[in-house]
Amino acid sequence: MTTTKQTSQPISFEFFPTKTAEGAEKLALVRDKLSVLDPLYYSVTYGAGGSTQEGTLNTIKSIMDAGYSAAPHLSCIGSTHEGIKSILDIFMARGVKRIVALRGDLPSGHRDVGEFRYANELVEFIRSETNDHFHIEVAAYPEVHPQARDANTDLKHFIAKMNAGANSAITQYFFNIDAYLYFVDSCQKAGMDKPIVPGIMPISNYSRLAGFSDMCGAEIPRWLAKRLQGYGDDIDSIKALGLEVISKLCEQLLAAGAPGLHFYTLNQSKTTLQICENLGLKK
Ligand code: FAD
Repeated sequence: MTTTKQTSQPISFEFFPTKTAEGAEKLALVRDKLSVLDPLYYSVTYGAGGSTQEGTLNTIKSIMDAGYSAAPHLSCIGSTHEGIKSILDIFMARGVKRIVALRGDLPSGHRDVGEFRYANELVEFIRSETNDHFHIEVAAYPEVHPQARDANTDLKHFIAKMNAGANSAITQYFFNIDAYLYFVDSCQKAGMDKPIVPGIMPISNYSRLAGFSDMCGAEIPRWLAKRLQGYGDDIDSIKALGLEVISKLCEQLLAAGAPGLHFYTLNQSKTTLQICENLGLKK
């Protein structure tokens, strides 16, 4: 599918920190390939309980040293106020201006939730300690957070988190555009109209996608799961269908007024670049 549609909505790319020097070099190449799309920022995930703190910081540093804008994720579960404050101080000292603020999930076997229970408390804390220094993104779940009691309560918690001082949100990935549109509409009806950027998951491997989706509560529509599954080990066909489906989803999202696109790149550039090329975004 090729379109000529142009958009001025910003795009951003998410990475996870690498564990080795070789991994870091490869990621720098991926980052440079994606830079032709002139992203607003590259974000870097943060392992639960601070397990990747050093890797996140190193990856952020490498992105910023290369002249790009970077946003570390920061999860608060299992942390103390003092611990989070010291990380915020490091981010500020390094010139970081944007944070993705999350609760995170306690690693299995850990019981101590620490001094923050939910992400809204982290947002409040960042604002009270650093005023307006950071642009704060938070997570949104158009298909409902997997631990939520029910959809309405989840929506109320999300709106409270935005009102605690977040500037914008990035969604969990989804394949059903109605989930996103209804979610945005419900927020607007409740008086919350800050930007909610769709998180986009390129498809290049069915079993990995199915595993992730189970964990994070993202629904793969039956028809899509069946077709991807039906290709078995035929990776080329999986990628071709995935490319078509995700390009179309992005095109429809932008046409419906989505304020941008945030790509879960899984530290790869090829599929994301192809999607953006289909959207006419590649310069
Ligand atoms: P919250 O907003 O705190 O919500 C978690 C649950 O608690 C929801 O069910 C909500 O309804 C409920 N809740 C919220 N507030 C209240 C309240 N006041 N009282 C009662 N219940 C409440 N995880 C990582 O470990 N590292 C990452 O880098 C990372 N990056 C992510 C990026 C994006 C864009 C997204 C969508 C997710 C990311 N995650 C990451 C996963 C995230 O940490 C998990 O989904 C986690 O379970 C919830 O985090 P949250 O910030 O959305 O939590």
